[in-house]
Amino acid sequence: MEFRLIERIRELTAQARDDVQLGIGDDAALLLPPVGQHLAVALDTLVEGVHFPRGTAAADIGWKALAVNLSDLAAMGASPAWALLGLTLPRADADFVEGFAEGFSKLARPHRLALVGGDTTRGPLAISVTVHGFVPPGKALTRGGARVGDAVLVTGTLGDAAAGLQALQQPLSDDDTRAGLRAFLIERLNRPTPRLSAGVALRGQASACVDVSDGLVADLGHICSSSGVAAEIDAALLPRSPALMALYDEAAALQCALIGGDDYELCFTVPAARVADVQADLSRLGCGATRIGRIVEGAGVRVRGLDGEWMNTDRPGWEHFA
Ligand code: ADP
Ligand code: MG
Repeated sequence: MEFRLIERIRELTAQARDDVQLGIGDDAALLLPPVGQHLAVALDTLVEGVHFPRGTAAADIGWKALAVNLSDLAAMGASPAWALLGLTLPRADADFVEGFAEGFSKLARPHRLALVGGDTTRGPLAISVTVHGFVPPGKALTRGGARVGDAVLVTGTLGDAAAGLQALQQPLSDDDTRAGLRAFLIERLNRPTPRLSAGVALRGQASACVDVSDGLVADLGHICSSSGVAAEIDAALLPRSPALMALYDEAAALQCALIGGDDYELCFTVPAARVADVQADLSRLGCGATRIGRIVEGAGVRVRGLDGEWMNTDRPGWEHFA
């Protein structure tokens, strides 16, 4: 089944790059890593019914499979270059592959990312993407550099994807404005924007960085444990979209923003004196960054609720073993 499908994937994702000596079509790709750069490599897998709902459009799956991986490069401050695609399909479905490759390449093209190989097998629908990017030595953003006194910031808005997933499960309303807001949230779920230019801008600025895939509390918790510090977050400061605020009550919107996953925003720390400059840089890049709290001594993430009292955040972000 595979030959024609692979050929179609190759056509739809074609991207000329000088550093690709040999791409799809041989037993392995031959690549020319730039001298003096670190290679940043990440892999994420999406399984139908686990990481995206059954019935998600093929183009959305293609976009998201790449987006979640590019988000990992963004969180490292790396610039993307190459990808490998592991495609497991229940059957040789040309329409699915067409849509998938279209969504994938729509995101790949503006980033000049080349798909250089992969594997196609039969089985329950699952997509595995490996991305490769470059970052100058010493400039990568890790989870381990947060220091007491640093400010905690986040790009974009939080909670939209979790709210979009809930919206998908609710009946459609015939109210036009609500349908538009609902579509916005579902788009945020299906077509997350990896914050690549923000990640590059944060090189040499952020002391630590993570992308928000499992929920703010869980992912900021990774910065805290890697850095040996604690974080205090103010619920009142969390950036939330007009759509989230219009369609959900305060408590539900807060819950989505704190523990909802799949937003693929960057959460990062910077020395307090650098906050204004970093915010100016990121607003020029279009995503903006909101200060939501600070790094303190201790361990874990504490959230001050809207009433000024510490909230119980024992409920973890979405944990999964794969
Ligand atoms: P082999 O059996 O030698 O692994 P394959 O038939 O699996 O070869 O793959 C042939 C070529 O097509 C290889 O270059 C491989 O990288 C590429 N390829 C296979 N599946 C995909 C895919 N889903 N996306 C991109 N390239 C693929
Ligand atoms: Mg193979």
